[in-house]
Amino acid sequence: ITKHYEYLVIGGGSGGLASARRAAARYGVSAAIIEGSGRLGGTCVNVGCVPKKIMWTASDTAKRVSEAKYYGMDVGNVPKFDWPNFVEKREAYIRRLNGIYERNLEKDKVDYISGWARFAGAKGEKMVEVSLLSGETAYYTADHILIAVGGYAAVPQDIPGGHYGTTSDGFFKLTEQPKRVAVVGAGYIGVELAGVFNGLGTETHFFIRGDTVLRQFDPMIQEAITSSYIKHGVKLHKQAKAFEKVAKLPSGALKITYEDIDGKSEIEVDALIWAIGRGPNSAGLRLDIPGVEIDKKEQIVVDAFQNTNVPGVYSVGDDIGWLELTPVAIAAGRRLSDRLFGGPQFKDSKLDYDNVPTVVFSHPEVGTIGLTEPEARKKYGNENVKVYNSKFVGMYYAVFDDQEKKESTIYKLIVGGPEEKVVGMHLVGDASAEILQGFGVAIRMGATKKDFDNCVAIHPTSAEELVTLV
Ligand code: FAD
Ligand code: NAD
Repeated sequence: ITKHYEYLVIGGGSGGLASARRAAARYGVSAAIIEGSGRLGGTCVNVGCVPKKIMWTASDTAKRVSEAKYYGMDVGNVPKFDWPNFVEKREAYIRRLNGIYERNLEKDKVDYISGWARFAGAKGEKMVEVSLLSGETAYYTADHILIAVGGYAAVPQDIPGGHYGTTSDGFFKLTEQPKRVAVVGAGYIGVELAGVFNGLGTETHFFIRGDTVLRQFDPMIQEAITSSYIKHGVKLHKQAKAFEKVAKLPSGALKITYEDIDGKSEIEVDALIWAIGRGPNSAGLRLDIPGVEIDKKEQIVVDAFQNTNVPGVYSVGDDIGWLELTPVAIAAGRRLSDRLFGGPQFKDSKLDYDNVPTVVFSHPEVGTIGLTEPEARKKYGNENVKVYNSKFVGMYYAVFDDQEKKESTIYKLIVGGPEEKVVGMHLVGDASAEILQGFGVAIRMGATKKDFDNCVAIHPTSAEELVTLV
């Protein structure tokens, strides 16, 4: 089979799907998408945002049920979580989404090519070879090719027995709830998965290299989530060095020999999850054939318009390693299609990667946009930065009899320059993910502290604190 398209997209995940559909549905471009896994939707739908949020909600619900007594409800003992049954329900939902994505492609007239792609032909050629899942090999050419192949979860190569561990991909394959787990890595995934396990009653050992989690975030967030996790019973192993070894015991359990702030020790767990970052799926693509440049981390090098160094070849999403978030891949993919196919009014269309709101589904939630306090002080100078803080116990906790169970909400607003423009906003507390979206719009529009103050508060809420800060 050989076929030519105007637009050929490699990777049926967040970025690829959004870009191909925009090109075909809005601009009538002949487009195809190549997806190797047999399931559309990519990381986010299959082994990322979606099943993660469902597990987070289960864990959050467990917390709310355990708190129902403070609201005068006798729910007896906290019900046992039926992990196997719930995982089946979750996966059935994901399969429904896979089907919806397939039908959307049909509706938008994007051809769906099921198979693994790589470049082929002589050096300098822009031809794509696909090992179709049906067993045949097909070749495609196109005026424009988008690489949106996403990434893979890293596993350390130098730890004896490290391969007994799994990654977030393996987390979603767990059909039984582990009694004891070790999670390694203090970023988004480590924090989210450790929170889910702990909330659902698994003994959770969380290994981090420093003293706090979420080290890329504002110090307030680092400290708040680190202490909250300890308070909620996560066994946090600070200053953990690389494991000396991981051994598999006859029982199937894993014995981890480690060293942390308290010295050398051993633990037994039923599962070990590496959450130490992700790398791009660029290796098998034969990028040397068209001559697409990659960097030291094998990430695809692009400019602000998502162009690679090869004319007519572009990349968006996790494989460029800029901001590994689904809405970022989607927005970049759509803007690229607007620029390529939307005519002169879109000739400068590109994604602005500044002030992208992002959240961590921890317990409690984290929301953040813009600069951290150290970044703001560096950029604007100490004298031009003002920081507004608010720490309070939300009304939800007012009727809790047990002081220990009350949780703090913490907000920080960072303003810069004489007009007090909001340059950073950092939230820890219930509903932060939902609260942040609207404030994101205001901050993108250049809101100042005065604009915040001019907005009348909504009472009684937690978010009202953000427009009444003094
Ligand atoms: P992907 O969605 O990974 O899609 C790439 C696709 O390309 C895949 O389907 C893959 O099979 C296919 N592919 C790869 N190589 C080839 C090839 N050679 N031929 C054909 N097909 C190929 N982001 C958020 O915004 N919010 C969240 O809550 C969130 N939670 C996450 C939780 C976890 C556990 C993980 C791992 C990620 C999470 N993310 C979240 C990040 C988000 O999933 C990614 O940023 C997003 O999926 C990136 O989209 P993409 O299009 O670049 O790649
Ligand atoms: P990450 O980069 O956020 O965190 C990786 C962590 O592992 C860092 O804290 C790092 O210091 C640590 N680490 C690295 N090597 C280590 C080692 N050898 N031993 C111990 N620790 C080590 O990566 P991630 O958590 O894997 O997530 C990947 C990306 O996916 C994120 O950066 C984010 O963009 C995206 N994501 C987003 C969400 C969300 O939007 N809620 C959720 C999950 C993932």
